[in-house]
Amino acid sequence: MGQYVAPIRDMQFVLHEFLKVEDELKALPDYSEVDADIINQVLEEGGKFTAGVLFPLNHSGDREGCKHDAATHTVTTPKGFKEAYKQYVEGGWAALACDPEYGGQGLPVVLNNSFYEMLNSANQAWTMYPGLSHGAYECLKEHGTAQQKEVYLPKLVSGEWTGTMCLTEPHCGTDLGMLRSKAIPQDDGSWKITGNKIFISAGEHDMSENILHLVLARVPDAPEGSKGISLFLVPKYLPKEDGSVGERNPITCGAIEEKMGIHGNSTCQMNLDGAKGWIIGQPNKGLNAMFVFMNAARLGVGMQSLGLTEVAYQNAVIYAKDRIQMRSLTGPKNPEQPADPIIVHADVRRMLLTGRAYAEGARAFTSYVALQIDRELHHPDEDVRKEAADEVALLTPIVKAFITDNAWIATSEAMQVFGGHGYIAEWGMEQYVRDARINLIYEGTNTIQSLDLLGRKILGDNGAKLRKFGEKIKSFVEENGLDENLSEFITPLGELGDKVTKLTMEIGMKAFQNADEVGAAAVPYLRVVGHLVYSYFFAQMAKIALEKQDSTDTFYKAKLATARFYFARLQPETATLIRQARSGSANLMALDADLF
Ligand SMILES: Cc1cc2nc3c(=O)[nH]c(=O)nc-3n(C[C@H](O)[C@H](O)[C@H](O)COP(=O)(O)OP(=O)(O)OC[C@H]3O[C@@H](n4cnc5c(N)ncnc54)[C@H](O)[C@@H]3O)c2cc1C
Repeated sequence: MGQYVAPIRDMQFVLHEFLKVEDELKALPDYSEVDADIINQVLEEGGKFTAGVLFPLNHSGDREGCKHDAATHTVTTPKGFKEAYKQYVEGGWAALACDPEYGGQGLPVVLNNSFYEMLNSANQAWTMYPGLSHGAYECLKEHGTAQQKEVYLPKLVSGEWTGTMCLTEPHCGTDLGMLRSKAIPQDDGSWKITGNKIFISAGEHDMSENILHLVLARVPDAPEGSKGISLFLVPKYLPKEDGSVGERNPITCGAIEEKMGIHGNSTCQMNLDGAKGWIIGQPNKGLNAMFVFMNAARLGVGMQSLGLTEVAYQNAVIYAKDRIQMRSLTGPKNPEQPADPIIVHADVRRMLLTGRAYAEGARAFTSYVALQIDRELHHPDEDVRKEAADEVALLTPIVKAFITDNAWIATSEAMQVFGGHGYIAEWGMEQYVRDARINLIYEGTNTIQSLDLLGRKILGDNGAKLRKFGEKIKSFVEENGLDENLSEFITPLGELGDKVTKLTMEIGMKAFQNADEVGAAAVPYLRVVGHLVYSYFFAQMAKIALEKQDSTDTFYKAKLATARFYFARLQPETATLIRQARSGSANLMALDADLF
């Protein structure tokens, strides 16, 4: 069922040559010992684990799916998932980027990021079990009490226990202000929680000893709307004094959803029937605490889509070199065979290069953001930490929406390379398309990400964060603008930067008159800014590749060709997107709802 080889050479290029992480990490005292050898070793071992253990379970997990037993409220994951998780825990993978204070290995987020790409390429559905634990770890670490941290963090770090996020209810997904789950205070300081949650990923399963649910609910007399939401820690089994699992808590799985993709992951309806929980942070400030989890998860969803883009691309390349159909338009390339391999055809190459460029762009982008997170959390200078935090805030919705939209395009193109053989299950390509689709929806739909970017992150601070990021692009353009060899990259980058500035101001002005202008422009606007970010990164990578064109390592020729393809074929869609974003709200709002 296809194959997966971790793209270690490109990861090393991004980490060592593009981001120069070793130097960057030297400025962070907690990571000053992390050198290229450690990084390369983790990449190698991660590649072996993901390709050897998880990838073989991807297709079988999809076919088999999870099984729910209504009598016992238990969920059985597909064959092999549990054993693979045991290997993951024993290998210390769960602890990779966690704090040594809680048993973690204390390695940087930027390295964990590469490992997560591999995990997701190998098996997105499986990766969601430990992936959610990581968000729960981040949230508890930042907002938990000392006692909560002591009891729960070591278990999450080791991977013995997993985590979930319980936000969605049947009547509210995007609009969490409407949620109804209730929490009543108890004399012992705990809370009794009642409610129904739906669509809870990894809500019940057989892979870990205990599951820690992070649940949003309302306390008595809470204000209406999102200002009246609190966050609770609700374990499946109540921990005993000695840290072992005790009594079963009444938070149970009533059913699992039948769905389009990620069949190996259990999507659970969770019933809380007076479950015991403990508040995280302050009453009515739950969304604030949950945002730590949500932001981690948004970046995680971007990584899911990068993983799928890469693995779909790899398999499409293998097929395109092997499958023979028709002759090249410029004459036979393979005269001893009755036809040429389809990789000779220009449009097959367009499809392959689309996947390649979106994978390489996303790898550079997410690694950059991950490094900014390391700086935000560990740089000794407060100003640097604040600047990094602002950039992460600005870029997070772009990671979530741009990468997932691109993966939907790229996996579909990769499937198309297979012709009819892509549509049938045998080759595994249709699974990548199905799995990729959810990434545009959960963790805040891509529309909501676009509104967050344009409304909150950009117009909400009068463009300050965007301007700051834009200054980096401007300096790069100024420094390299006179280099003729680079003009094919620098000119379109500089022009797009100017266009984004103008477009942002125009939408901002229109929004003063009519708030619908923001909603009407947000989705194409995010895509335009996504392309600005990719143009910036591809231009920098092309510069490095150009300097190495005399090298015997053909990697640099391929990198340059990919950057050229990106600027020639993908980035130009910004012209249409800008027209769409400028077209205003009238063409959307004029039609009366009853005329639809
Ligand atoms: C497989 C799967 C796994 C999931 N895992 C989890 C999980 O682990 N935990 C959890 O809590 N939830 C989870 N979810 C829920 C998921 O996060 C929600 O489905 C998602 O946030 C959207 O909410 P909704 O489905 O209620 O859609 P709605 O909120 O009803 O939205 C419907 C449509 O309206 C649009 N819309 C809504 N408001 C606006 C607006 N202001 N402007 C423009 N458009 C708007 C949306 O973009 C969407 O297109 C999961 C869902 C699925 C399918």
